Amino acid sequence: MSTIAEVPISSGQINGATGRTVVNADDFRKRYFKGTTKKQWNDWRWQLANILRSREDVEKIVKLSESEACAFETCSGLPFAVTPYYASLLTGTSSCDAVRRTVIPTHMEMIKGRGEADDPLGEDSCSPVDGLVHRYPDRVLFLVTEHCSTYCRYCTRSRKMGEIHSGNIKERWQKAIDYIKATPQVRDVLISGGDPLVLPDASIKWLLESLSAIEHVEMIRIGTKAPVVLPQRITKSLIKILKSVRPLFMSIHFTHPDELTAETVQACNMLADAGIPLGSQTVLLKGVNDSVDTLKGLYHGLLKVRVRPYYLYQCDPISGSGHFRTKVETGLNMIKGLRGHTTGYAIPNYVIDAPGGGGKIPLIPDYFQGKSEGQIMLKNYQGNTYLYPDEVL
Ligand SMILES: *Cc1c(COP(=O)(O)O)cnc(C)c1O
Repeated sequence: MSTIAEVPISSGQINGATGRTVVNADDFRKRYFKGTTKKQWNDWRWQLANILRSREDVEKIVKLSESEACAFETCSGLPFAVTPYYASLLTGTSSCDAVRRTVIPTHMEMIKGRGEADDPLGEDSCSPVDGLVHRYPDRVLFLVTEHCSTYCRYCTRSRKMGEIHSGNIKERWQKAIDYIKATPQVRDVLISGGDPLVLPDASIKWLLESLSAIEHVEMIRIGTKAPVVLPQRITKSLIKILKSVRPLFMSIHFTHPDELTAETVQACNMLADAGIPLGSQTVLLKGVNDSVDTLKGLYHGLLKVRVRPYYLYQCDPISGSGHFRTKVETGLNMIKGLRGHTTGYAIPNYVIDAPGGGGKIPLIPDYFQGKSEGQIMLKNYQGNTYLYPDEVL
């Protein structure tokens, strides 16, 4: 990173979803990446080449709290990385700020709580070949990379992130593809990682074409956070590749309405215009997005850019994630606060990915109140009780 020049940060745009004043990306670039042109900034390869990876990098932008500074000195495990673009959302924040807490480590990461584990979902034991998790009958999770442009501190796969493999990556991918080819019940392949969209276009094209060539693979999904942390990655040439292998769905990892910047809105619109069905995945995080108003702000903002809220995850019991986890009751209250009160499309499925490898289990507030004399008792979103005659002739 270049040194800081005295360019004042004007409080430019107002984020449409939250009303929070966010720093204008141009001002941010001129101040913290002096000499970088707009064209370079808007190039995802420049963003990747200039990722903030150290305490020194991040201290140019924010003043670290003691807990954050301590984490840089002592935490090992999940690497630290934030794209320059996403770092622009951190300017002017304190260590309590929602978006900042998701990417800057604190000393809390060193505290391993009861029931926490490095691989709580037992993925490694459901892996027929390296990089493939086959848990459900008809679909597989294909982990194509261990790298992200920005690491989320609550990462489910922190045990693997940043790993460097020796050997040819295409040979590893080929083994997974051979397994899928030989397993006709697999009709749905979810490409994730890491973030698959840190890979170059040619690799993505190769992967998608190899999977599309398998007759029993009916659909492909990509799980990514690129539109949020690296929106520059959604280029015309990438879209062309994604469009060529329909049906392709995309699940985008969103956390907070502050992420709905002009850049991210544009990336989502480009994907939606290309006819790619978009869903969101959000992890419920204490003090970050565990309020109905925050989630409503996020979900309404997402629907405006044609992203359908898909999953709200109870935070996995990853080692050192206790400070992020809410009670399950909190999650149920989020759903209660949404269902009936807003558009049904704005309501995701609230799930726990069961520790030990049980898969995703949906949790639903207690609308069903029980049975009596051929009737079922139901409670609506206002708390009123209704009876439904549950008998057939
Ligand atoms: C989440 C997940 C899937 C996909 O689940 P859906 O409910 O179909 O979105 C597939 N495999 C694994 C291992 C997963 O964790």
